[in-house]
Amino acid sequence: MNLLVVKFGGTSVGSLERIESAAKKVIQKIKQGYKVVVVSSAMAGETDRLINLAKQIDPFPPERELDMLISTGEQQAIALFAITLNKMGYPAKSLCGWQVPIITDGVHTKAKVMKVGVQRIKNLLNEGYIPVVAGFQGVTEDWEITTLGRGGSDLSAVVLAYALGADCEIYTDVEGVFTADPRIVPNAKKIPRISYEEMLEMASLGAKVMQARSVEFAMKYNVRIHVRSSFSDNDGTWILPEEEVMEKVAVRAITLDTKESRITVVRVPDKPGIAYKIFKALGDAHIVVDMIVQNVSHQGYTDLSFTVNKTDAKKAEDIVRRVASEIGAQEVIRDDNVAKISVVGIGMRSSYGTAAKMFEVLYKNNINIMAISTSEIKISCLIESKYGELALRELHSAFIEEDQDVIKY
Ligand code: ADP
Ligand code: ASP
Ligand code: MG
Repeated sequence: MNLLVVKFGGTSVGSLERIESAAKKVIQKIKQGYKVVVVSSAMAGETDRLINLAKQIDPFPPERELDMLISTGEQQAIALFAITLNKMGYPAKSLCGWQVPIITDGVHTKAKVMKVGVQRIKNLLNEGYIPVVAGFQGVTEDWEITTLGRGGSDLSAVVLAYALGADCEIYTDVEGVFTADPRIVPNAKKIPRISYEEMLEMASLGAKVMQARSVEFAMKYNVRIHVRSSFSDNDGTWILPEEEVMEKVAVRAITLDTKESRITVVRVPDKPGIAYKIFKALGDAHIVVDMIVQNVSHQGYTDLSFTVNKTDAKKAEDIVRRVASEIGAQEVIRDDNVAKISVVGIGMRSSYGTAAKMFEVLYKNNINIMAISTSEIKISCLIESKYGELALRELHSAFIEEDQDVIKY
């Protein structure tokens, strides 16, 4: 029998009515002959609400306690989901991460999944129950509750689909993966099929429709994912190996990421070892650095800028201030008002002129570029955050709405 893991995001379980609609989707699948395992997020807004409560007590709460707290959002949702299914005549049992078990390492708030037990889920299925599993949470070997990073229910679903040999459907509040966030760009188009690689870049660059780590896992283990809407029966977006995505375009999508801050170390002596001292200190503190720019040296001094996630910005600033006095830098400036705008597409490997066109669009809109980073399949520019949405719309119009060459294979 076909096995299906279906995951519902926060909006899709955001009220009792929505949970009932989600339950109807599950029942529809069962009537089509599938055995279904449900993965649920917390009700919309609940994770944020819990984080805010903790931060009212302490802006940097102990991460173990934060996990203990925020994992409860999913626990509420799965119980309500299972109660709903039972009421509708379909026996269901909810399971927390530790009951599955989904075993993780001990890095609180962004734990990695190490292994997954599937026997309990299989037993439930054989006994005629619908297992309803809490997304986002796991447990360490020594029984500490962990969470898998924001948006982590996607990862729970993909990992379970892999472990069970099941297909994976991600039900969300949009019709699939679009060429840009459809809430900001009304002309964005649904992408019927997208490669893991492109989806991973998009997710890492701000398209929160799929959590980046879940796409990385799916790519590694070849889990096919169908992202679709909770509110319609339309086909959504398939995330697949590159060979199965027939149509290749130079630019597949534009993304906007407002979750980074820029830190500038002003007037550092331009000599060997300076960058090492700064980035070693950041690495030792487990801070991930994204874009790095060093200005041209002037009279033996230079400015060095880099970006980090906003959640790490204060910590990074404090660390760099300490190092700055050691290395004789003049000052350290933190800027939270930056945004990273990116164009993504595997066709960029074999096309030229994308960077020039991107810079032209930004220039024509009088938007200054503070930093640039590239990979084979993306170009990102750091700009002032107040221009983020404008840049997104203008780049979408230039690269996606206007005709572009389609490279067919
Ligand atoms: P869920 O709660 O279902 O996990 P999320 O809020 O995490 O949903 O992700 C869905 C949201 O992602 C959409 O509401 C949309 O605003 C946003 N989004 C950003 N970029 C894109 C994109 N390129 N395609 C689709 N949605 C996107
Ligand atoms: N509830 C968690 C979050 O808001 C996990 C998820 O929704 O996927 O990040
Ligand atoms: Mg999500």
